[in-house]
Amino acid sequence: MAGTAGISKDDEERSRHPSHGGRSRPARSRPSHGAKGGAAVLAVREGEQRWSEAELAEVRARLDAEIAGLRAEITKAESEITARLTDAVGDAGDDQADAGAKTYQREHDLALTHNARELLARHERALARMADGTYGICESCGNPIGKARLQAFPRATLCVQCKQREERR
Ligand SMILES: [Zn+2]
Repeated sequence: MAGTAGISKDDEERSRHPSHGGRSRPARSRPSHGAKGGAAVLAVREGEQRWSEAELAEVRARLDAEIAGLRAEITKAESEITARLTDAVGDAGDDQADAGAKTYQREHDLALTHNARELLARHERALARMADGTYGICESCGNPIGKARLQAFPRATLCVQCKQREERR
């Protein structure tokens, strides 16, 4: 193929001009909503009071706290997995049963971090939806999830009916 020479020349060209002065400005894609967002625009169920800023702040604080907890949990679990992997290198003399138990333990740990990550993603999504004013709208049917349910489960993304339907599947 003919392309090889061209590519290496290109690389050479690039290495001669290493940087462009480090002027890259991180693009902030999300527009700031300012006064337009906030508690008053969020959907509630019929008969429920609108969110007050204080109520929303409380739910947001709980999400923030859970996110911090989940991040810590994931970091801890990952360092344990790494430690165990390093450990395994030195244990070449283990018998089969022992090695099996270790594999099981590692898979168990990996499943835990996977679950924690999913949970973390849901919490972060809830915060994002607060920011864009769609917090409290069921992701399945589009009806309000209900303030009471969200105060009990701040990360809920489905209304009770849709949640139950999902669990029955
Ligand atoms: Zn629904």
